[in-house]
Amino acid sequence: MAADAGTLLHRTVGCGLVTESDAESRRDVVLTGWVHRRRDLGRLIFVEMRDATGRVQVVFDPEYPEIHAVAEKLHAEDVVGVRGTVVRRESPNPQHETGQVEVRASEIVVHNPASGVPFPVDDELEANEELRLQHRYVDLRRPRLQRAIRLRHKIAAAARLALDEAGFVEIETPILTRSTPEGARDYLVPSRVHPGSFYALPQSPQLFKQLLMVAGFERYYQFARCFRDEDLRADRQPEFTQIDLEMSFATPESVYAVVEPLVQGMFRQIGVEVAAPFRRMPYEEAMSRYGVDRPDTRFALELADVGAAAAGSGFAVFDAALSSGGAVRGIAVPGAGGASRKQLDTWTAWAKDAGAKGLIWIKREASGGLTSSALKVLGEERCRALADAVGAREGDAALIVADSADSCTRTLGALRGKIADELGLIPKGRWDLVWVEGFPLLARDPEEDRWMAMHHPFTAPRWDHLDKLESDPGSVQAQAYDLVLNGTEIAGGSIRIHRSDVQERVFAALAITPAEAVAKFGFLLRALKSGAPPHGGIALGFDRICAMLVGAASIRDVIAFPKTTSASDLMCEAPSEIDAKQLRELRLRRVDSAEPQA
Ligand code: ASP
Repeated sequence: MAADAGTLLHRTVGCGLVTESDAESRRDVVLTGWVHRRRDLGRLIFVEMRDATGRVQVVFDPEYPEIHAVAEKLHAEDVVGVRGTVVRRESPNPQHETGQVEVRASEIVVHNPASGVPFPVDDELEANEELRLQHRYVDLRRPRLQRAIRLRHKIAAAARLALDEAGFVEIETPILTRSTPEGARDYLVPSRVHPGSFYALPQSPQLFKQLLMVAGFERYYQFARCFRDEDLRADRQPEFTQIDLEMSFATPESVYAVVEPLVQGMFRQIGVEVAAPFRRMPYEEAMSRYGVDRPDTRFALELADVGAAAAGSGFAVFDAALSSGGAVRGIAVPGAGGASRKQLDTWTAWAKDAGAKGLIWIKREASGGLTSSALKVLGEERCRALADAVGAREGDAALIVADSADSCTRTLGALRGKIADELGLIPKGRWDLVWVEGFPLLARDPEEDRWMAMHHPFTAPRWDHLDKLESDPGSVQAQAYDLVLNGTEIAGGSIRIHRSDVQERVFAALAITPAEAVAKFGFLLRALKSGAPPHGGIALGFDRICAMLVGAASIRDVIAFPKTTSASDLMCEAPSEIDAKQLRELRLRRVDSAEPQA
């Protein structure tokens, strides 16, 4: 019979959980969910029904004309309840979990016909992303996204469990707060009560978590939403989630000892056991061998300094680099001895994109022959010596950059990843976790001609480097560490400054005047004088970790309601204009972009 839409049938089993033994006992079941697909085969109507547990086939027989007539009008995504008997299927579908059985319907209620479904709920069909984001509630029904968001929950639960077991207390910190310097622009919220004043949304809970250590909690964590108003590069979100944690009396070792089992627990959710302790690598080594501070150690193509083999060559490009304090460095690309002209041109273009003036290549053919973009000026013998120095054997290619040391490192660091990817040199299914440590505390900002914090201004210098803070700031190392997974930074943290005198010296090194320091961070400086324990912590990029574990191409796939790269929410159309009354209440005035700004 066809019940009216107000009747709610009570589900007795999930669609994906109907079993062969239900068919043996010809169990009567009630299913509730969505019409995934309808097929009319002559007299019989087959409806694949879907709910959160999976899908099962339901059959409508003309023997029950009343419900058959309802089934004839069903559309994909209608919400229905069905009562029926589980039977064995005449033509089973072994690809499908419930493919051995089907439900013969005896009653149906259509709770809600769906008339506005913009695209089919199907993993195979790649609807345009704009449309998918506009109708995210439909997009999220797709099995791939259901899996991703559910796995995200499992990974979060595993992390919470590990942190709880390690004695961490989950504490929320304010969203309406004041600026926290993490190096991005703030999202600002105007205050109605204090006209002309603004809250900043937190770029991270950095100062609050330090204050929780001063407050005696000793071990804090939070799934913290962070907001950074950046020009969004490919796969960033203006708001994102960090697993943020802080510990008192911490050393890098004690932080690693918390994070490693936490990460292992998250990996277990995808059935992968990663070995601990994780590998460690000094920052200097990461830069010199891999050309980046987040080394992908799954493949070789390591950087080699070939300054010695390049010296005295009379080649103007080498001489200019070496005589101005620069470098000549290269990488060996295995099996690229026969690389095509087009490929070499692409690699050269990549090198230039990364900032190099050019790329010198030497190809060693398997037969022993050698060709090079600089064969004429360098001669065969020196080309061979350079290729040897780079580590390119017969059958390989050597790619060489001569420039400032920074440019060589940056270029080759970028090239090695891209080339390894292009040539399929990255082993599949491998998870390389590396702690990078020993970062410099400060980096020179050439535009502003001053020192900037490499991490953030609250990061502690190595205590034994403290006396160089004023005399040789560039050589001071930070007690900071990053965790890198397959070449992606997935966590970053540091031991913090816990004494106000040291914090004041670091502020001074960063050209923050005492008056500015008091105005911006007076509360921190006061807290550090009120019995602040040594402390440190870390934040894990939760969206990124989930995307990597789920195998998603974008973090948008593990965020239920993500924004576009231009920071818009296409579904609810945020950001949006506000009306004149709201503007008045906030004492804000719209300034036309044409109007000159003070
Ligand atoms: N607050 C830092 C960040 O968001 C993480 C940390 O130092 O713990 O990158």
